[in-house]
Amino acid sequence: MTQQRFKAFYFDGRSSKPQEVTLVLLDDCVWIQEINVTYPLKTIEVGAKLKDTPQSVSFTDGSYCTLLASDFFSPPNDGINRFAFKLESKTRYSVFAILFIALLTAFSLTFGSTLAANAIANALPQSAIDAISQSALSILDNNYLSPSKLSEEKQEAIKRSFAQINDDKCCALRFRQSNTLGANAFALPNGDIILLDDLVYLEEDEQMRGILAILAHEKAHIKLKHGLKNIIKVSISSAIVGYLIGDFSGLAAGGATAIIDAGYSREYEEEADAYAIEKMRELGVSTRYAADIFEKLRLKTGDDYSLLDSHPLMDERIKRFREN
Ligand SMILES: [Zn+2]
Repeated sequence: MTQQRFKAFYFDGRSSKPQEVTLVLLDDCVWIQEINVTYPLKTIEVGAKLKDTPQSVSFTDGSYCTLLASDFFSPPNDGINRFAFKLESKTRYSVFAILFIALLTAFSLTFGSTLAANAIANALPQSAIDAISQSALSILDNNYLSPSKLSEEKQEAIKRSFAQINDDKCCALRFRQSNTLGANAFALPNGDIILLDDLVYLEEDEQMRGILAILAHEKAHIKLKHGLKNIIKVSISSAIVGYLIGDFSGLAAGGATAIIDAGYSREYEEEADAYAIEKMRELGVSTRYAADIFEKLRLKTGDDYSLLDSHPLMDERIKRFREN
């Protein structure tokens, strides 16, 4: 039987008066010699050993011991504490640990959050997707959106047109107006597509064929979970940054801004355009009407044509829709 002995102060958990004791570490238990009581190792809680601070050992009955600062109490089942103490007590290891954390943080903020976002987006239950979307919409409604001023007839005409590409009924159209977001449309992960009045005002085609192609583009963002992945990615980044700077206010707003501001990657935009063009081809509808709307949007907003999906690739998009 091996044993290690430690001088310690014992507190019974009821009075603040310490008692000098000897803590004896045996193979599977600790024995407090002076009061003759033993505790199985698996029931005790050993405090972290930081360089010059005394360690504590707590017991299930509320009593605990404080060791001398020079001692290191490490039972065989306390691997993490041993490892941490070893790292902490060697400068070389500390530098390595800081570098490791810096690299891990950088990875988490870039590739790591993308990988995690893809995995989480595919695993999330519908109830969670609904909750995320409702919360994002209420933030948008409270800050940027107001009720649509489009006539009932106009809204009905757009809904009828939209029904052609919504035969699986996975999406629902919602009309809003926004001074801040102007001519825009965006999709929420639960299937809601928010269409803003100013975008409809740019449509000259009676049959709403340009708007239809744009709605098909938004539907693609929902089907391919682009918005959901963006929200998760922004939330992971905000959580990491929040943890590092101690401010989590960015986390709550992240969901809403990921849909309208942060924007989709070029890859997501091209995927959504390809889906919209394919859908229009199936319906025998030319995509030039959508190209017309994009042209007007570009004229209207000048260089700042980041409003629709926030993409900087308007020229390429107009060309794509014009040619199909
Ligand atoms: Zn888009």
